[in-house]
Amino acid sequence: MKNKTRRAVYPGTFDPVTNGHLDILKRASLLFDEIIVAVGNNTAKTTLFTIDERLDFLSKSIAAGKFHCRILVEKFDGLIVDFARENKIDTLIRGLRAVSDFEYELQMALMNRKQTSGIETVFLMPDEKYIYLSSSLAKTIGRFGGNLRDFLPPAVRRAFPSKFRTAKRA
Ligand code: ADP
Repeated sequence: MKNKTRRAVYPGTFDPVTNGHLDILKRASLLFDEIIVAVGNNTAKTTLFTIDERLDFLSKSIAAGKFHCRILVEKFDGLIVDFARENKIDTLIRGLRAVSDFEYELQMALMNRKQTSGIETVFLMPDEKYIYLSSSLAKTIGRFGGNLRDFLPPAVRRAFPSKFRTAKRA
């Protein structure tokens, strides 16, 4: 019997993608045959980077890295369960850092399961060096010109100075 292709969606805001996100993606790429990184457009969060910038950073970072399965980057509007259903995927990937992530992630996973039966969320833990890294912390450090070499992929680091000049002027 032919093995079924294992496909998953890794949803998020990715404002911007960090090495923590890429670490989760690398781990997931050992477990699945195809992953769609789904970048939320019109989420409740106000983003620093536009949807096109966030998609571009992800595509460049994935192209520059080593992953073990096929990875696609797409944007989504609306509910992630609808995006997953449209793509005939029933597995979501999320990263879990500290206990502080747990409550929100549990709520999301159970709500997503309630919206669409058969949807499961798989949680992966990053390398401990990324446990305290978040996109928002990276933006705070970046705004003040701090060192982010170990935390952000080159495509993102290159965009930081001009983005913050623009953000300050606005
Ligand atoms: P969202 O707005 O959906 O939380 P994020 O881009 O902040 O989008 O995060 C997407 C996923 O990646 C979440 O599951 C989050 O917990 C995970 N994540 C974010 N940063 C890290 C990190 N440093 N290590 C591991 N997982 C992370």
